[in-house]
Amino acid sequence: MTETSATTGLIFQEPLLWEIGKKGRIGFSMPENDVPEVLPDQKWIRKDIGLPDLSEVNVVRHFTRLSQWNFGIDAGMYPLGSCTMKYNPKINERLAFLPGFADAHPLLPDCLSQGILRLMFDLQNYLTAITGMDSVTLQPAAGAHGELCGMLIFHAYHRKKGKDRSRIIVPDTAHGTNPSSAALCGYKAVSVTTNENGILTPEAVAAVMDEDTAGIMVTNPNTLGFFEENIREISAIVHAKGGLVYGDGANMNAVMGIVDMGACGIDVLHLNLHKTFSTPHGGGGPGAGPVCVRKHLEPFLPVPRVIEEDGRFTLSSDFPDSIGRLHAFYGNVGILIRACGYILSMGAGNLKEASRLAVLNANYIKEKLKKTFHLPYDRTCMHECVFSDKYQNSSKITTLDMAKRLIDFGFHPPTIYFPLVVKGAMMIEPTETESREEIDRFIAAMEQIAREAEEQPDLLRDAPRKCKVRRPDEVQAARKPCLCS
Ligand SMILES: *Cc1c(COP(=O)(O)O)cnc(C)c1O
Repeated sequence: MTETSATTGLIFQEPLLWEIGKKGRIGFSMPENDVPEVLPDQKWIRKDIGLPDLSEVNVVRHFTRLSQWNFGIDAGMYPLGSCTMKYNPKINERLAFLPGFADAHPLLPDCLSQGILRLMFDLQNYLTAITGMDSVTLQPAAGAHGELCGMLIFHAYHRKKGKDRSRIIVPDTAHGTNPSSAALCGYKAVSVTTNENGILTPEAVAAVMDEDTAGIMVTNPNTLGFFEENIREISAIVHAKGGLVYGDGANMNAVMGIVDMGACGIDVLHLNLHKTFSTPHGGGGPGAGPVCVRKHLEPFLPVPRVIEEDGRFTLSSDFPDSIGRLHAFYGNVGILIRACGYILSMGAGNLKEASRLAVLNANYIKEKLKKTFHLPYDRTCMHECVFSDKYQNSSKITTLDMAKRLIDFGFHPPTIYFPLVVKGAMMIEPTETESREEIDRFIAAMEQIAREAEEQPDLLRDAPRKCKVRRPDEVQAARKPCLCS
């Protein structure tokens, strides 16, 4: 296995825009002013911000070069567990750029927005069909925003029933956003541990569920890559005490159109369109986290809601029990268009097939690599598999070293050190859009890294060697980013 050409070749040095700028350069020329000048109030004009003067060429080259430093799904395999970094079909972009969609202004009246309202209405119906739920809001802008929406719905439901509750059960495999969303709504997150098979047991949930507990948040399939097989019993336990069940649907890519989440007892479920439904993901772009509910929670959905009457679509806020608005206008509509395009271009049968292939690919990697890397739960997985660095620890090589070394082979590293229940976790999610050849290349790279851990551990500690930025101080980079000279 050689390091790939993807990581060699021409990489420009790139200075900051402030270093490129030169007094007097301009990016465009304005026509002569032919109307009287109206100067805004000087007190609003800051003169000290020191923006660089740049030409169009300066700007285009700067950003094009920076974009070449980046790694995305269009550049190579991106097996980031729990994030479903599948390929984003380009037809979705074409559809979102159709002038009728792209030029639609959010302040247009409903009568001039029938096409886009219908698209949203249809998308809601597709999502209910795929999940087995009854109603949907498309407003939340991300999964975490969907969780917030769900917790607000839990709260509104219990208040309507006449008694606020104070706790939420959250499994030890949950994504960090779950307890955070619960806490944002004033709930105390109570942890419940998964068993030796990496799933929840009814007994463990029954032991913590009581009448002061608003409900449980369950990720299914969970972040160890396993289906929560006891979900119906767990839901029944929570419902029997008057609680609700929140489904974190971030991992729905394993079960699109295959598992009926309503029948599993899920009351509220978020989807991540930027994971399961192939819309662009990462880089700070917009996402969407639609929230599906069962019938009894429909009155609490955010407003406005898209409704249909006699073939006409309107946005209605006439829902007195609603938790209110969660996003300006109607969420990230451009993302909704892309996801709708994905669903329609796939069709029901192919969505199911995509999930099956995603599961097959993850199991293939698990079987091929389990002799080389410690597999803490050796069972059939869903969309992702989780290894640890236990076998490499004897050479003092860690998950971080191996993740960094993968970059030299032209792969984005998997999710690391999560879920927290596996020490030194490497969580690999190939998705259905990688070919057998690409997955085999990934496996070969992982095997070589394991050999290097034994034979040349210093190579790994020094990795990646082919990047401009090699091992940044990630805490410092997040807390104190250096954004200008
Ligand atoms: C990605 C993810 C989330 C959060 O979703 P965002 O869209 O990133 O806000 C929540 N739970 C799980 C299990 C996830 O993988």
